[in-house]
Amino acid sequence: CHADQRDAAEVATMAAFEMAERVNGCASDYLPESELSQLAGARVGEPVTLTPLLFELLEHSQVLAEKTGGAFDPSLGPLTRLWRETRASARLPDVAVLRDARFAAGWRHFTLDPTTRSVTLHREKMSFDLGAVAKGYAADLMLESLASAGFRQSMIAAGGDIRLGDPPPEREGWRVAVQTFDLARSDEVLVLSNAAVSTSGDLHQSVEIDGVKYSHILDPATGLGLTRRIAATVIASEAKISDPLATVACVLGLEADKFLKKLPGVREVKIRVVEDLQ
Ligand code: AMP
Ligand code: MG
Repeated sequence: CHADQRDAAEVATMAAFEMAERVNGCASDYLPESELSQLAGARVGEPVTLTPLLFELLEHSQVLAEKTGGAFDPSLGPLTRLWRETRASARLPDVAVLRDARFAAGWRHFTLDPTTRSVTLHREKMSFDLGAVAKGYAADLMLESLASAGFRQSMIAAGGDIRLGDPPPEREGWRVAVQTFDLARSDEVLVLSNAAVSTSGDLHQSVEIDGVKYSHILDPATGLGLTRRIAATVIASEAKISDPLATVACVLGLEADKFLKKLPGVREVKIRVVEDLQ
């Protein structure tokens, strides 16, 4: 965050981090007490009133699920739980267990009602995982918080999701190095401002079983991690768009760029497979 006065900027960045904490406290599926985790215990068919923040996140996620034909699915909770067990044990889930988890997952099995700000689940054992969208969503809120405090020349770096405000002083934009398959090198350097850039792939999270690498990105069609070595970078107007769509690009594969580029807010989509590096 570029500022003339350090103290004021520090106060503003603290407020931005508090914003991220709010999103985490509400939408994390790692925290058992989060509003999102609590939803897993909701009775089928009974509406649950949500905070405005979680309602908006779920509504945004539902729209994305629809637009991507379910390649992005916010309700893969039962399957990501299995993936985490698979990573810990290095063993694929039992067929029957996988079938049950797949049955419980699916974005068509919940409905949102904006008039009562509520969600209704239609299947037993449903749970949500907003891991592919909440970080970008939080980055947008953080940038907004800094801008409203007067600090527009700011950058939020949330791992693979980067949200950029106005360029730093006397620069054309922020320099963002993109890494996909190799931590020791970057594939390219982007110069951007007032945009978001997200990269997804298996660089940081995967598990190898019998010589096959399973990514933490799940193919909703199989319920298992992607086995194709693919990574994607999406540049968009906001991180709540670039974050999930980078994940979607990996699910849909190399040819998805044309389709994704047409979605609102998307500026650029770059999909790479591991062979590109050789
Ligand atoms: P990202 O790092 O943004 O690509 O998001 C990956 C995370 O999103 C995973 O760790 C899961 O928690 C979740 N996830 C995996 N596959 C999907 C999917 N197809 N749709 C929505 N979320 C997913
Ligand atoms: Mg993402």
